[in-house]
Amino acid sequence: MAFEQLLSGKLLREFETISAMVKIYCKAHHKDAACHPCSACHEFIEYAHIRLDRCPYGQEKPTCNKCPVHCYKPHMKEKAREIMIFAGPRMLIPHPIMAIKHLMSERKDAPGKPPKSHSNRHQRLNLNDKE
Ligand SMILES: [Zn+2]
Repeated sequence: MAFEQLLSGKLLREFETISAMVKIYCKAHHKDAACHPCSACHEFIEYAHIRLDRCPYGQEKPTCNKCPVHCYKPHMKEKAREIMIFAGPRMLIPHPIMAIKHLMSERKDAPGKPPKSHSNRHQRLNLNDKE
């Protein structure tokens, strides 16, 4: 997936974590799919990638459940919640470091308003506030 290269640092780590969780979820729930992630789950991963790229906090991104900005569409948010609940506890064995880092960042307090022009996309494309 070439689009992974758009993200770096914390955002990339978070993308890798969500991708790993989706694969665990997909293997258990979509057993009949020809490949994992299946096309629906792959679509979700792509969606999550776009949201991460556009997250207004950029590298200071909080974990999604602490975030005051609700950027996911309702049905995607529902799917994200299902994936987290199912795959979260199952991450510890295959991906212990990822799982522990995620748990640690979940303990940080909720942030205030997002800073301006801080998203990965802004930095990447050098966009200004007029967008
Ligand atoms: Zn699937």
